[in-house]
Amino acid sequence: MLADAARCVKCGLCLAECPTYALSASEALSPRGRIALIQALDAGQLPADGHGAEILGSCLLCRRCEAVCPSAVPFARLMDQGRAQLRGRLSRRERWLPALLSRPTLSRRLLWLGRLLPKSSSLGRVARQASAVATSLKPLYRPKEGEVRGRVGLFTGCTGELLDAPALEAALALLLAAGYEVAVPEGQGCCGALDAHAGNAARAGALMERNRAAFAGAGRLDAILSIATGCGAWLGDQQNPPAPHEDICAFLAREEVLARLRFHPLRAVVAVHLPCSLVNVLKTEQAVLHLLEKVPDLQVREIGRRGGCCGAAGTAAILRPGMARELRQPLLDELDDLGPDLVVSSNPSCRLHLADGDDSGANHLHPLVLLAQQLVRE
Ligand code: SF4
Ligand code: SF4
Repeated sequence: MLADAARCVKCGLCLAECPTYALSASEALSPRGRIALIQALDAGQLPADGHGAEILGSCLLCRRCEAVCPSAVPFARLMDQGRAQLRGRLSRRERWLPALLSRPTLSRRLLWLGRLLPKSSSLGRVARQASAVATSLKPLYRPKEGEVRGRVGLFTGCTGELLDAPALEAALALLLAAGYEVAVPEGQGCCGALDAHAGNAARAGALMERNRAAFAGAGRLDAILSIATGCGAWLGDQQNPPAPHEDICAFLAREEVLARLRFHPLRAVVAVHLPCSLVNVLKTEQAVLHLLEKVPDLQVREIGRRGGCCGAAGTAAILRPGMARELRQPLLDELDDLGPDLVVSSNPSCRLHLADGDDSGANHLHPLVLLAQQLVRE
């Protein structure tokens, strides 16, 4: 961890890019300040107390600083390790929320309870935006006819079947239409990112091992595809996966895959939100735009500052609702001006967070859902 921190030359180029610094104008809440805090804690110059834990805990892990850093400081890894050292000082909600959300049965109950909470509660609002319909997938899907082009694994994550059921069904429709067999291994679960970001490296590692075993048991796969960019950013960082990880939009946008897909026209304006995990980590945002441009008559308009954070940031919309709302407001103002028919975002927490604040009546969905709705089915 200290070797990673020592890579920082304190140039400050990351400061203007950091959303928590932009809101606070406080050096402590900048990437450079957080690195200095980790170094000061190690040197015994500052106590490992709740104040330090809040400074590290309030980082959104948008990884914008990492994307612009000339010294290639692996900031996310550093933050996870720093939080692990201060885990005992993180708030109780911060420590336990990831463990609850990453267990489908518990998260289902939590969302059910959340819907009973008043609208003023951040959990209550997120729960109301979540899809009420869960889906249950089979372990293997085969295209009905035609040549089979390959075989991919679909990563559903912990809340995919609950929060993103329409996107999973859309993913299946698109992959099957493109001629791919789709394995959905039963033993898979949470990717572990939320636990890692809450300083629980042991549980994050155990969850990743479970996924590794589940996908290794699914036979030969060309790729493991994720639909949520937050999970994808974490999966892409893992060593020795049983098959290479790829964001599903990047996979579908490959020339040889896209050549198999055709779309009905749609006269509508779609606002496209590109999550920070997609832009700063996966770096495949062009694929989403490219896919949407394949729908005839659709007017595609990007919203937000590319690489910026909407404030959802995993659990931040629940844990730090004030900051999350402030970061979201410029996006809502853009939506107000644009008046789109649809808003798409490929990360569920971003989508729920934006939908929660948007009262324009636009339909908020995963880009895959829009594409599957327009798919020409032979
Ligand atoms: S850009 Fe990189 S090297 Fe410069 S202050 Fe930020 S983290 Fe440190
Ligand atoms: S990850 Fe994002 S919020 Fe955290 S320090 Fe870097 S730019 Fe700021």
